[in-house]
Amino acid sequence: MSVRTDFDVIIIGGGSAGSAAACRAVEEGLSVCVAERLPGMGGTATYGGINRFEQCAGTHGLHEQLAQELYSEGSGGGTKELPNSQIVGRYFDENETGAEHKPFAECPWALSSIGAHGYGMFFSRNDVHHVIWNPFAYLPEALDAMLRKRLRRAVVLLNTELADCETSGDRITAVRVRNRATGVTSRLTAKVYLDCSGDIVLSRAAGCAAACGSEPERQYGESLAPDEYENTVNGCTLVFNVESLRERHIDEVPSEFRGTGNRWLRDTIAANGVGPVSCFTRYPHQGDININMLPTMEGAEYLSYPPDEAYRVCLGRVWAYWHFLQTERGLDHMRMKHVFPIVGVRESYRLVGEYVLTQTDCQAGLFRQPRADSLIAYGAHSLDTHGARSKKHAGQIDTVMKIPYGVPYAFLQPKEYTNLLVACRGASFSHLAASATRLIVTMSQLGEAAAYASADAIRRGVSVKEANVTYIREKLRAEEYEARIARNLVKAEHV
Ligand SMILES: Cc1cc2nc3c(=O)[nH]c(=O)nc-3n(C[C@H](O)[C@H](O)[C@H](O)COP(=O)(O)OP(=O)(O)OC[C@H]3O[C@@H](n4cnc5c(N)ncnc54)[C@H](O)[C@@H]3O)c2cc1C
Repeated sequence: MSVRTDFDVIIIGGGSAGSAAACRAVEEGLSVCVAERLPGMGGTATYGGINRFEQCAGTHGLHEQLAQELYSEGSGGGTKELPNSQIVGRYFDENETGAEHKPFAECPWALSSIGAHGYGMFFSRNDVHHVIWNPFAYLPEALDAMLRKRLRRAVVLLNTELADCETSGDRITAVRVRNRATGVTSRLTAKVYLDCSGDIVLSRAAGCAAACGSEPERQYGESLAPDEYENTVNGCTLVFNVESLRERHIDEVPSEFRGTGNRWLRDTIAANGVGPVSCFTRYPHQGDININMLPTMEGAEYLSYPPDEAYRVCLGRVWAYWHFLQTERGLDHMRMKHVFPIVGVRESYRLVGEYVLTQTDCQAGLFRQPRADSLIAYGAHSLDTHGARSKKHAGQIDTVMKIPYGVPYAFLQPKEYTNLLVACRGASFSHLAASATRLIVTMSQLGEAAAYASADAIRRGVSVKEANVTYIREKLRAEEYEARIARNLVKAEHV
């Protein structure tokens, strides 16, 4: 039997953006191939242990459908209610959620208390109370299975990574992908290529302009940017799960990691007085607790290592930290259950496309930002650089969005190619904008938009640069959604 090698769309990376793109492209009747390096789908949102959908601006479309399905199948069970997209933009009222709340001052090392419900509790976090930030936790394997089921009509190549690409003029003409288990390489072709790899591996292989680190203020006129370029990249986290036990238990640190993370831990404690600050989220069902440090490693340090080495160093830190939590923070009735197989990367390389979304665009909000008539994804998360603050703003806390902002379609387009779109956390965002846009919900919408753009361009025989934005927005029900945000903002004024 001959194996298909030519497609309408090839998608590199099956994370939040790539899987959303694949699902929508299949629905549009396109032939789709996804090459994903991991053994399953979902990327950071499954294999990285970030299995929490955050309900805020942007909770609609495929993201909302997946949450509904996870909930109704019981896979996301344990949460008290579904993400409610009607309340976007309202001021946060802790009582509405019925969630436990511990003031930050009582528990400074834990951004969220270990609650009785399935919700992660971020409520003590400074400065973000004005958005509804009520995460919906689900089991990673449930989302992976759901995505694979939706993609039965696509060719999904798991354990398969991009090796290189071929280009001619302003077009990508082929990609070579390699099966990581067998080493076999295949040459694949498509009309449109979507780079959903997070680290924009395809765009970089094709020579597109890319950035990494914090741009200076003069580059995009961002008031929070440093005076000069800084190699500050949002931090990475190796997430791990622990389970509660009835009896006292202290895990033995595996011999190969004994002591390896101690110096980092000591330095972190010396720097802030409390050590790593983490989000603790109790999973639905079995009640495991998901521990997400902010961060395990600064992004620039992560990028300085080969990936396997970065993972190993992070693992040493995880063990040092877990031992500290067990022996110094009272988590001594628990057991390490597992460490996720990939480091969660918040930021690495970003496209420098036709247009670059900036802090100024995000803070202008979706009714005032430039190109507001072509928005295809939304967010309301604060400018949230975690460990990676520019020196100029070293003491500054996260910067809140007063109203949601959007991502215009043009920001997915590289300058160099007419059949390539970049839809993932590495899209054409400045360092500061990327610190806000990166949420799963926003990435999922970028993927959906890229799929609709591909479908329209392929049907009309034009380049993706000429895709009809009205069509993309109709498919995304963007106008309806923007009207809903506007209504809720008006309501919020009167709460
Ligand atoms: C620690 C942490 C905490 C976070 N907390 C939250 C949160 O609470 N809520 C929230 O909404 N968001 C959160 N985020 C952000 C969010 O999880 C990510 O930004 C989002 O999941 C990124 O989606 P993506 O599709 O752009 O990239 P990814 O999910 O990273 O997907 C990229 C995919 O491409 C694949 N890939 C990479 N290179 C290749 C290659 N060469 N060949 C083939 N495939 C390749 C990867 O394996 C991966 O599956 C957090 C992120 C981190 C790291």
